[in-house]
Amino acid sequence: MNAYLASVIENVKTKHANEPEFVQTVEEVLTSLEPVIDQHPEYEKVDLLNRMVEPERMFTFRVCWMADDGTWHTNTGWRCQFNGAIGPYKGGLRFQPNVYPGIIKFLGFEQTFKNSLTGLPIGGGKGGSDFDPAGKSDSEIMRFCQSFMQALYRYIGPDVDVPAGDMGVGAREIGYLYGEYRRLKGAFENGVLTGKGFSYGGSRVRPEATGYGAVYYLENVLKHEGESIEGKTIACAGFGNVTWGICKKAAQLGAKVVTLSGPDGYIYDPDGVTTKEKIDYLVEMRASGRNKVKDYADKFGVEFYPGEKPWGVKVDIIMPSAMQNDVHMEQAKKIVESGAKYYIEVANMPTTNDALKFLMEQPGIIVAPSKAVNAGGVATSALEMAQNSERLVWTEEEVDKQLHQIMNTIYQMSVDAAEKYGLGYNLVAGANIAGFQRVADAMMAQGIF
Ligand code: GLU
Repeated sequence: MNAYLASVIENVKTKHANEPEFVQTVEEVLTSLEPVIDQHPEYEKVDLLNRMVEPERMFTFRVCWMADDGTWHTNTGWRCQFNGAIGPYKGGLRFQPNVYPGIIKFLGFEQTFKNSLTGLPIGGGKGGSDFDPAGKSDSEIMRFCQSFMQALYRYIGPDVDVPAGDMGVGAREIGYLYGEYRRLKGAFENGVLTGKGFSYGGSRVRPEATGYGAVYYLENVLKHEGESIEGKTIACAGFGNVTWGICKKAAQLGAKVVTLSGPDGYIYDPDGVTTKEKIDYLVEMRASGRNKVKDYADKFGVEFYPGEKPWGVKVDIIMPSAMQNDVHMEQAKKIVESGAKYYIEVANMPTTNDALKFLMEQPGIIVAPSKAVNAGGVATSALEMAQNSERLVWTEEEVDKQLHQIMNTIYQMSVDAAEKYGLGYNLVAGANIAGFQRVADAMMAQGIF
């Protein structure tokens, strides 16, 4: 391997030994940049890569909140402003008990490349808390969000850093967060958050955007193989907002999602999550806070597999859409045995590096990376920012059209970038290279700091 690249990876491994998720994403991304670094000695000359793997800044703050029974609780909050070279920091907030700085940094690093790929002016950021929203009442969630924003508001702004949702943070949380921001600032600066409700500046199609974007990207991949999405079966994971959007768009286009998963196991619905009743029920399941996919099996009388993952079920397309490191080597082997031809990552880093490499080496499988596939969410957030700053509201058709175009462009840019560096049809490396190039150009132009 290129000696400079190897030394940067080594630095990160040493420095972040206690943050394996961050090391994993840095290794995955940097490895695929090898031909670029070989051909551009100017990056090594100014040690660009060690700057790229170091967040510009990261805040840690205390978040105290009162439970309904009057007891007080203390959590930690974080916001990482990873890279602002191409625009205000942009990326979601994740509320989940397993959140710690390693998760926030991995997501912030991924976000930097993903946001760059959208072609829109957004830098990379991420934040969250180790707060567990499961089983919390609505007023507990509100008090937590208010307290979180009391700490966060001084670091963000429509031209500074624009958080949004991620796991555990949906439209309800964004509403409470924005209400507190508005109260603190005494101004209607609604471009400070995206994923807002439509009544106070949210964008049409934002709730569906990640799922729709993933399907638009998938259509490009299928077209390349001379195939169409109609009649295809899809295995998804999770049952949150992203999976909901995939089910909805897939159903519109005549395909069907046949698996969903949760922490309790997975369900198999041979008829697909295709009817309005079934698709709407996903929203209800998520809102219940129970976090159990078995509810779907109970309601619609389909098979539930406790404690198992859906990888290996016979389908045409695999879309891991739940969370990081959902697919390990063991599941990757099952996927190959199942004969699925398309492995389309959706969640951030859903595949371990060894499993991803293994899948990419299989001649019969096409692999697409999450940072391209799920970029429609954040891209639509950038469209929300544009509407907010123009004090305008675009129609559903307008937003959907732009989202569709952006996904087509992301796909094409990835294809072109890999080809340019002699890597053939490699969507994974192509996305990393295309995402890198824009941030690198901007950083080089702005001088060393
Ligand atoms: N959390 C989502 C992501 O990973 C959305 C971020 C945003 O809209 O800013 O891209």
